[in-house]
Amino acid sequence: MAAALFVSDLHLCPTRPAATRLFLDLLAALPAQGGPLYILGDLFEYWAGDDDLDEPFNASVAAGIKRLVARGVEVVVLAGNRDFLLGDGFAAASSARLLDEPQLISVGGQATLLLHGDSLCTNDHAYQEFCREVRSEAWRSAFLARPLAERHAEIESMRARSEEQKRIKPAAIMDVASDAVDALLRRYDYPRLIHGHTHRAGRNEHLVDGHLCERWVLGDWYGAASYLRCDEAACDFLPWPG
Ligand code: MN
Repeated sequence: MAAALFVSDLHLCPTRPAATRLFLDLLAALPAQGGPLYILGDLFEYWAGDDDLDEPFNASVAAGIKRLVARGVEVVVLAGNRDFLLGDGFAAASSARLLDEPQLISVGGQATLLLHGDSLCTNDHAYQEFCREVRSEAWRSAFLARPLAERHAEIESMRARSEEQKRIKPAAIMDVASDAVDALLRRYDYPRLIHGHTHRAGRNEHLVDGHLCERWVLGDWYGAASYLRCDEAACDFLPWPG
């Protein structure tokens, strides 16, 4: 099999051109007809709606993905908590498959469950409440009906509030809750788990009902960029550029 690649939490935005350039370079460097690329949320620092594709920065990222897909590489995008407003317009502009989480896939015959990861942070009750609200169809359609400039302003103020919250919250409640992980692993028959969101890159093990499950957490692209590569034998983190 061609190895599958996984990234998340790139948090691309016009004010972080280095990360954007690294990502576009990675897309261009992947071999034609190679294994799939899974982007597990927070590709963008935020997404105000698909009508924001007129913005050259957003259009350039979508075009970079589209060029990779045109070279015969499947790109799958799951939305994160920053870019949950990605929609059909982005999928069309990028040729990526935009899928709901969680996604159960096979990597070299091993069942592997993919998600962004914020839904596992169940100890953060205020955050989960916020997610339930903004991810509802009613909130989504009402928000997207507002003018783009107004949405940008609202997102900026939500981000400022969220940064303030993160400063005062204990680190432990912003990590995944082990009971939420166990419940998910049980529900999907003890797969390998790959997610991002917490920015705590690494390999974890969970023993659930006698099944030893791997949980891989992807790294963010704020500092050193990396991706996870999995084939039938193993998963490994690779730095980018390699
Ligand atoms: Mn996130």
